[in-house]
Amino acid sequence: MVSHKPVIFVVEPFGGSIRWHNPSLPLIYWDDYAVTRGDGIFESILIRDGHAANLERHAQRFCTSAAALGLPEPILDSWINATQAAIEEFGEGEGKCTWTYSRGRASTGIPTAWVSIQPISDVVLAQREEGVRVMLSERGWSFPSELPAKTLNYAATMATLRLARERGFDDVIFTDPDDGHVLEGATSTVVTVKGAKLRTPYDDTILPGTTQAALFAHAESQGYRCKQKVIDVDYLLAADSVWLVSSTRVAARVRRLGEDKLKAPDNENEIRSLIDAAMTRG
Ligand code: PLP
Repeated sequence: MVSHKPVIFVVEPFGGSIRWHNPSLPLIYWDDYAVTRGDGIFESILIRDGHAANLERHAQRFCTSAAALGLPEPILDSWINATQAAIEEFGEGEGKCTWTYSRGRASTGIPTAWVSIQPISDVVLAQREEGVRVMLSERGWSFPSELPAKTLNYAATMATLRLARERGFDDVIFTDPDDGHVLEGATSTVVTVKGAKLRTPYDDTILPGTTQAALFAHAESQGYRCKQKVIDVDYLLAADSVWLVSSTRVAARVRRLGEDKLKAPDNENEIRSLIDAAMTRG
């Protein structure tokens, strides 16, 4: 039977054992640094056909993030076992799997670690089909570029997203306040398509995206030419299509950028299938 209740498995951070946790009961203590400082890391992973997509890239980035924050090295086998156990309990259908690893309680110093799976939200499903209206916003903050990490600290990003929604947009693309260059989406990587060329912004403050990496590897094998490049907003406006790519939403075409409408390209379905195929190979 298909279960669409959230599923949680706690990972014991040093020994690596896993245990089921009732999703209706609390899990985090009041003095956990995830709560008081956003001090921890996470990964969001697409579950499709009983399989964690792109798992190797997620696991690698998770370890890089842990090292950047000085967290104990994750016992990857345990995280993968917990993911497998959660997939079995979740049942069929697409899901969003999250690995969360916090610095833990101030009073014990022991990290808090868990894996969850929940259904993909209706908003995300709709955005895959309908695309997104995107507000441009300067981003004046970044994590130190020599310590790349996917951290839990998204408060400023979420505030910007709320502002965008109040103004009639669905999402945000951040730009560099100094030179106006395009950085990334609020929770996604920007990819442009122009003929057989796929481009993604280059900047050392951008989180390296696992979806973009999988897409570029697959697209190269299909004859596309892919590279990172410093990109400005005019470049986005001149592209055949602009996409926000990320693990669980997979791909949403940008159909409005600020005040500019971006017309659907003739090959919209081909590009969507290309990105989808990249996710089912990993
Ligand atoms: N950039 C940011 C800031 C993100 O939060 C995310 C995903 O959450 C991405 C890029 C895309 O990364 P991925 O494709 O690994 O999901």
